[in-house]
Amino acid sequence: MTDTIATPATLTLTARIKQMFPTLTPEQMARIAAHGRRRRIENGEVLIAAGAEVVPFFVVTLGQIEISKPSGDTEELVAVHGPGEFSGEIQILSGRRALVQARASEAGEVIELDREQLMTLVQTDSELSEIIMRAFILRRVELIAHGFGDVVIIGSDHCAGTLRVKEFLTRNGHPYSYVDLDHDAHVQELLDRFQVSPADVPVLICRGDVVLRNPSNLQIAECLGFNTVIDHTRMRDVVVVGAGPAGLAAAVYAASEGLNVLVIETNAPGGQAGSSSKIENYLGFPTGISGQALAARAHTQAQKFGAQVIIAQSATRLTCDRRPYTVEIDNGPRVPTRTVIIATGAEYRKPAIENLSRFEGAGIYYGATFMEAQLCVGEEVVVVGGGNSAGQAAVFLAQTARRVHILIRSGGLAASMSRYLIRRIEENPVIELHAHTELSSLEGDHHLESLSWRNNRTGDVERHTIRHVFFMAGGIPSTRWLNGCVVCDDKGFIKTGHDLSREELAVARWPLSRPPHLLETSLPGVFAAGDVRSGGIKRVASAVGEGSITISFVHQVLRE
Ligand SMILES: Cc1cc2nc3c(=O)[nH]c(=O)nc-3n(C[C@H](O)[C@H](O)[C@H](O)COP(=O)(O)OP(=O)(O)OC[C@H]3O[C@@H](n4cnc5c(N)ncnc54)[C@H](O)[C@@H]3O)c2cc1C
Repeated sequence: MTDTIATPATLTLTARIKQMFPTLTPEQMARIAAHGRRRRIENGEVLIAAGAEVVPFFVVTLGQIEISKPSGDTEELVAVHGPGEFSGEIQILSGRRALVQARASEAGEVIELDREQLMTLVQTDSELSEIIMRAFILRRVELIAHGFGDVVIIGSDHCAGTLRVKEFLTRNGHPYSYVDLDHDAHVQELLDRFQVSPADVPVLICRGDVVLRNPSNLQIAECLGFNTVIDHTRMRDVVVVGAGPAGLAAAVYAASEGLNVLVIETNAPGGQAGSSSKIENYLGFPTGISGQALAARAHTQAQKFGAQVIIAQSATRLTCDRRPYTVEIDNGPRVPTRTVIIATGAEYRKPAIENLSRFEGAGIYYGATFMEAQLCVGEEVVVVGGGNSAGQAAVFLAQTARRVHILIRSGGLAASMSRYLIRRIEENPVIELHAHTELSSLEGDHHLESLSWRNNRTGDVERHTIRHVFFMAGGIPSTRWLNGCVVCDDKGFIKTGHDLSREELAVARWPLSRPPHLLETSLPGVFAAGDVRSGGIKRVASAVGEGSITISFVHQVLRE
């Protein structure tokens, strides 16, 4: 892929359309044909039904294919492919259901490849890989921009569940249409049609007919077939737990080096980085890149090389008393694996405020993306925390909020935040820093309406009518599920390599004559990378670096 994908807005419309719908040369088509088969198509023949689980890839050599989105009794035309053009978008790589329908609108001939054949093609032919991957990514971006999905969300901006569902689909790069109960006059008609009451919101209409009332992320993933191609029984070379920057980097390197890799992710690819509006210090992106864009690219890259990623399911247990290890998923299937990479990162520390959970998603947020920013346009907001993520959130929110208050316990930002962010905060008249200040109470009915903060030196308490608080303070490692399988430090971060003392290894019964590799835990063949690791640097670049380094040690362990 070239960097033109990174900034599609900079492409002229014509160039962008050419990249989205390229015409292949006869020589390129002959190379594709070597991986599949040529066959005739008849006018009107449905080549891919919308919602189909098995989705082939077609190159038109003669005739024409129409791509459309069925909508009730009608069809909305999305694209037309003539000779030299090909069907498909990013979903073919992930093995998810088809979002659109493909039908021959003129008799002719196509080259047909199944998913496996297409994967082999993109992994072995770099020129065609670039053309096809770029077209797939741009087509998905276009489907998202036009809401050409198979999902309709009926919800309200004042409802925490609606924000969660929108966030889940957005962070998984799945297009959807949104009907706002509070503003859309036709919504009652839609609700009546599917016999749901407003109390059921958010309601998700999946693939046109399945109605889910306030669904969990897993229910949504199942309905949309996010995980259908996963085989839980197959022995893996490596299971990666967590699809943040560390886990995705490990997956890309493992899969590209021929390892059989499965990634398990509780929510959506990207981890903490996915909730960042703009990462400005990641090498190679001088104008910054949103966490969402970085995660989407890395996820696609991992899938291109053949990594499988389970979405909306968690690793709940590691069986560590025998090898091969098994990783239990949501207290259900156990995946056998020769090695494990723990890349479960960290979560924000939640302050001990009594009714905090009541307002989560309804005034209390743990990420500051475009979606949350839209909810507080023109309003006052509070950002709690003094690290880089808090600084970034404050600067980002200051573009649309009326006023941004940053609350920090300490006396200043110098010890915890990068200098470039401190300067932006100091120079921004919309942002006000409150040192030695802690949030003390939250009030409201269904949504946060007001709050109080307290000066921890003077004890003075101030009450403010503020409806939005962003928590970006401190991290606790996501290691509870490991249940003592590996040695951790006193804060629960996993110890690796030289940080493990002889005594700790003796207590953990380290069985080998060699010491643990760099990033290897107290269990042979089990590694930890990124923010979850004791001594981890808490940066995207270091998480990516550690994720990729582990793979060279995985190879060594597999040879042992
Ligand atoms: C808002 C924000 C802005 C930031 N900005 C920057 C920046 O500009 N530059 C920079 O360098 N760093 C930045 N950071 C820090 C950076 O994002 C993190 O250091 C990095 O994401 C750590 O990557 P990771 O893969 O180790 O962990 P994480 O990103 O925390 O990812 C861990 C993943 O594991 C999943 N998971 C957890 N438990 C389980 C389980 N049991 N089963 C399955 N999956 C599980 C989680 O859902 C998550 O997706 C920012 C962080 C935030 C929150």
